[in-house]
Amino acid sequence: MSSYRESLKKLSRKVYIQGKESADPMEHPLVQPGTNAVAQTFELEQQAEYNELIFAKSHLSGRPVNRFTHIHRSTEDLMNKVKLQRLLGQRTGTCFQRCVGLDALNALEITTYEMEQALGKPYHQRFNRFLQQVQDENAVCDGAMTDPKGDRSKRPHEQADPDLYLRITGENSEGITVRGAKCHQTGALNSHYIIVMPTLAMKEKDRDYAVSFAVEADAPGIIYILGRQPSDTRKQEPHRADVGNLYYSGQECLIVFDDLFIPWERVFMFKEYQYSGRLVERFAGYHRQSYGGCKAGVGDILIGATAALAEYQGVDKASHIKDKLVEMVHLNETLFCCGIACSAQGGVAPSGAYLIDLLLANVCKLNVTRFPYEIARLAEDIAGGLMATMPSLADLDHPQIGPLMRKYFQGIAGVETTCRLKMLRLVENLTLGPAAAAYLTESMHGAGSPQAQRVVIARQAELENKKMLARALVGREGDDKLPE
Ligand SMILES: Cc1cc2nc3c(=O)[nH]c(=O)nc-3n(C[C@H](O)[C@H](O)[C@H](O)COP(=O)(O)OP(=O)(O)OC[C@H]3O[C@@H](n4cnc5c(N)ncnc54)[C@H](O)[C@@H]3O)c2cc1C
Repeated sequence: MSSYRESLKKLSRKVYIQGKESADPMEHPLVQPGTNAVAQTFELEQQAEYNELIFAKSHLSGRPVNRFTHIHRSTEDLMNKVKLQRLLGQRTGTCFQRCVGLDALNALEITTYEMEQALGKPYHQRFNRFLQQVQDENAVCDGAMTDPKGDRSKRPHEQADPDLYLRITGENSEGITVRGAKCHQTGALNSHYIIVMPTLAMKEKDRDYAVSFAVEADAPGIIYILGRQPSDTRKQEPHRADVGNLYYSGQECLIVFDDLFIPWERVFMFKEYQYSGRLVERFAGYHRQSYGGCKAGVGDILIGATAALAEYQGVDKASHIKDKLVEMVHLNETLFCCGIACSAQGGVAPSGAYLIDLLLANVCKLNVTRFPYEIARLAEDIAGGLMATMPSLADLDHPQIGPLMRKYFQGIAGVETTCRLKMLRLVENLTLGPAAAAYLTESMHGAGSPQAQRVVIARQAELENKKMLARALVGREGDDKLPE
């Protein structure tokens, strides 16, 4: 695990944080909790009881690899992914960032195979060599799909500024150059490689935008600008307890690609616009499955914190509180059920990789756009107003006001006031603070906004078949006899 942190420190990258270029971003207090969260995916390798979840057998080498670098080869693999994500959500209480790269690898494995078969271009061979390297190095990959998109009503080639979608700007015998940006990049500074994919199903006029490649995170020509999170500067305060979650947070960046050169060996899609939609749909499908695991894990933390607060504040026996906690569990487990169901109903793709059931994965994500908000609403109901009006926990150390805080914020006798206040901070972190970006906004928009799921659900709904099923029960005109 220390070697993971060391490997990131060795990367020489152009990183901007709060308006300044950062010479040593991995030491920055806004960055470190995000790295801690990804580091948990390495930490699990050291714990024998999690071997089955964290390790999988590589189909390339036959050796055990970290599951975050694995191409799913069975239904069990798909389900273990969701279980692993729930576990990591429970351990970190936030976004642990590594699944987006895993989902990009799996979507590319299937799509490059398909392209190579149909077009006779060596996309899949290149991809497999890259995958082998990722597995050998146990590397972390950023999955970069979302373009800035400018005017959403216009296609990429129609934008006033052609760089608002990442595009190919040149090619020669060595490789290609690309220009553009990718927004909201989860775990960008914690990654060794950036995997770029198109964000839309492209049409012929947008063929320069139909590009996918992998690149070293410290390639010259990449700029990182760290995204902010609510209350993030609390991480910079000497008394860090007001952060709520002392150890972990998510991380997003804007990544700018400034005429970046990519050798052909790392190009996985070059102007193949007919295949861009399939790549997007598969990546989004895998990522919509992911949320059934990770968000349920973070939900476990929020439910646990809320239940503890109910106890500390003497309301845990009230019937409406018990009922609200049951409702939170019901919603949270529904998300997990969806993650498991779309895995269990998945099937094998022509490449041999396993793909989730797309309809169920989209149902999963559409629930994810709603249920965490309701769980958060119930948590705020039970927590009470102090969650949002509480003085700093640093005040507890003050000789004069510390005793006043302890006296007036005491809950039930026998539980330290500090326990109550820290738990309130954790609920604040998850519903209004840094982790709300991961638990709420990411639930809404990550892997696509709700309308994107509705579009897929509409496409997969098989309404004609459902109509036929209904018609079979009512019979034709004149058929009014009951069955014998
Ligand atoms: C915390 C977080 C982490 C993320 N991590 C990653 C990541 O690691 N990698 C990655 O690639 N992306 C990531 N994303 C990006 C995510 O996929 C996008 O936020 C999502 O696709 C929505 O895009 P947008 O934010 O540009 O919003 P928009 O696309 O602008 O959507 C805003 C609203 O406009 C509507 N809309 C958009 N276009 C149209 C249109 N043409 N017609 C009608 N309505 C439209 C949408 O339905 C939505 O209601 C992350 C996002 C978040 C919030």
